[in-house]
Amino acid sequence: LAPDADDLLAGLNPPQREAVEYRGPALLIVAGAGSGKTRVLTHRIASLLRSREAWPSQILAITFTNKAAGEMRERVEQIVGDGARGMWISTFHSACVRILRREAEQFGFTKAFTIYDSGDSRALLKRLVKEREADAFGLTPAGVQSKISKLKNELADAESYARDANMSDPAERAFVEIFGDYQRELQKANAFDFDDLIGQTVFLFRAFPHVADVYRKRFRHVLVDEYQDTNHAQYQLIRELTRPVQTDVSSGGAAVLIPEADGASLTVVGDSDQSIYAFRGADIRNITEFERDFPGAKVVLLEQNYRSTQNILDAANSVIRNNFDRKDKKLWSDQGEGEKIVGFTGYSQHDEAQFVADEIDRLRRGGVDYQQMAVFYRTNSQSRALEEIFIRAAVPYKIMGGTKFYDRAEIKDALAYLVAVANPADEMAVRRILNRPRRGIGDVTETAIARFATDNGMSFRDALAHPAEIGLGPKLQKAIAQLDDVLREASGILVPASGEQPSPKAVTEGLRVLLDKSGYSDALRRSRDPQDEARVENLDELVAVTREFARNNPEGTIVDFLTEVALVSDTDDIDDASGAVSLMTLHTAKGLEFDAVFLTGVEEDLIPHRISAGEPGGPQEERRLFYVGITRARKRLYLSLAMTRAQFGEVSVAMPSRFLQEIPSTLVDWRQSPGDVNSRGGLQSRALNGRRTTGDRWGVKPLPAGGGLTPTSTAMDKFPGLVTNKMRDNGDLELAAGDRIRHDDFGEGRVDAVTGDGAKRIAHVRFDTAGSKKLLIKVAPITKL
Ligand code: ATP
Ligand code: MG
Repeated sequence: LAPDADDLLAGLNPPQREAVEYRGPALLIVAGAGSGKTRVLTHRIASLLRSREAWPSQILAITFTNKAAGEMRERVEQIVGDGARGMWISTFHSACVRILRREAEQFGFTKAFTIYDSGDSRALLKRLVKEREADAFGLTPAGVQSKISKLKNELADAESYARDANMSDPAERAFVEIFGDYQRELQKANAFDFDDLIGQTVFLFRAFPHVADVYRKRFRHVLVDEYQDTNHAQYQLIRELTRPVQTDVSSGGAAVLIPEADGASLTVVGDSDQSIYAFRGADIRNITEFERDFPGAKVVLLEQNYRSTQNILDAANSVIRNNFDRKDKKLWSDQGEGEKIVGFTGYSQHDEAQFVADEIDRLRRGGVDYQQMAVFYRTNSQSRALEEIFIRAAVPYKIMGGTKFYDRAEIKDALAYLVAVANPADEMAVRRILNRPRRGIGDVTETAIARFATDNGMSFRDALAHPAEIGLGPKLQKAIAQLDDVLREASGILVPASGEQPSPKAVTEGLRVLLDKSGYSDALRRSRDPQDEARVENLDELVAVTREFARNNPEGTIVDFLTEVALVSDTDDIDDASGAVSLMTLHTAKGLEFDAVFLTGVEEDLIPHRISAGEPGGPQEERRLFYVGITRARKRLYLSLAMTRAQFGEVSVAMPSRFLQEIPSTLVDWRQSPGDVNSRGGLQSRALNGRRTTGDRWGVKPLPAGGGLTPTSTAMDKFPGLVTNKMRDNGDLELAAGDRIRHDDFGEGRVDAVTGDGAKRIAHVRFDTAGSKKLLIKVAPITKL
């Protein structure tokens, strides 16, 4: 037995144990954050394996991210040891890719199909919208893309949509046509988009019941984490997988089905208060109506939270209570009150970031590891200010998601080369590399190749083998022949003859050949653009990724490699180095936990996000997102905001989030920034000099005399914590281009321009050492020199 074996039931409370030991067709575990839902799923799998009620191959567990899948697998292996090999623990998308790779040939695809990410889909739609001149009806590629995605999440296709659409409306008609074109193009390219991975698997199961039966017989236990965020297509997939297996004994024309095996046992866990993906089609009803959908289902409630201190839970509970149409839960913790929540209001996002950096440093010196700290924000763009300050303050950090290594142009190019070899039907990939590096191939040549391909009934890729017949000049002929050669040579390395096992080094070697012999690497190395140096390094990194892949998958093929790359999701970091603070969006934070959590930008228009206001249920979903953020914290929670925020090149005045007012003020210790007083100096004296804000437009009372380090109770009631001694009232400060100023944080600089009027006047300042910044003159801590 593995060392952790005793842990199986010992570390569980009675309802958790019940959930682990229950045996029956359907089990629903509903519970608030941190109550051990994921732990119960993990232990349930371990229990099924340990008791030999199930082979590992009979288990299908679905998690929300690849990272969560990896953790669950590791944990199960810790408990049951080697006896865990062969389980499928993965995301919906990964599981469907595995199924589709095996079954693609059943319905007109090949094993080597490409997975289009949202950028690829967008590029394809851009072409289709243009071809149909649909922009005339107000259609945009982005708009069409999101509408198609929504429909696919509902398992609708172009035909079913057309049945209910008003086809006399030209915009609707154009949309239906483009949707149809899009599917045809995908099929022609031997490609699935992300939504198709789920939808087409459901289609496959419904169209080919004997295929579905293979998986129904195989998976006897299906378990789903984060069930509140499943959409309709995922729900239907689960239904298909858990149907009873029936044998067709029809004879003489009459169909007779007799049951052969019961449906798989289904376990789902979730928390409707943490449903945060409605915008992607997640349907909370999947959880609220589970008992109706699966009659006789057993329901287990968990109420004890093991993650957070009571103060943090109280804050979470009092926020989420403001959502109507929900069942109240009584989450409790036996960990004691713990520290108070710390609130902080900065005057700018840089000030806020500085506070976060200072606190991280303080916690670190107090013994909290960097990797036990996380900083959350609502939108990716908020990370910029944090990164800027963290770099200066030497705080090691990693950004979870949003690093977008695989979105970089040079990486996409390199991958397109690989795809062009692995799946030559993928015309978009071949077109992408046609003139990268520059070979003098322009639009005219590209069109000529495409026409030749169509006229001769061959693929775009195959047309490259006939440059002379296309009727191109000698230089172009040579360029195309060279590209064709390189692709062939790489194909010899990457695509093993049938029955042959590829060498583990194949992917690395193939990539090398493609990059070197195509001249791609050379072109970058010869370039004098300093950016190109970084691009070369990124490509080296990609080569390193292929080596790592080969180590982990000695039998992995190029298709396996491309699959892995395509499924790297927002939350999976290529460089999961520990010893760093994690930065991520609130959406990415789901399911995770940290000792200390900084929830930043707690402002109106950010959380709740501006776009949520117009969406039905939008503000409620934002509240759930805020709840998810709070409940990630084990011991310490920080809520911070800034009074002015630069976004999209504009400095705007921010207001505290309404959610702050939903947290009892007794739970929060609103702080002045001690770092201000000590490290950067001058603030206390400034406050004493009486040079402080009247604050009326912030809803803040003037600071009390004597330093003003304690917020007034009125201000607290109205806008908790909206007190700062850094704000100025510079309303009358005359500034013009050419003036020199001094800023408390950024030092001296020169005013390039002043825009806006009145309270919204903005100085565009180039600082001597801190770069260019836009400052709201009214409140910025600046002095004219
Ligand atoms: P979320 O809703 O955020 O996904 P969850 O319900 O899945 O949370 P887990 O992540 O499974 O909760 O558990 C939260 C923390 O509590 C984990 O660190 C877990 O190990 C711990 N925990 C859960 N149950 C127990 C228990 N009975 N004894 C000790 N620790 C527990
Ligand atoms: Mg969980």
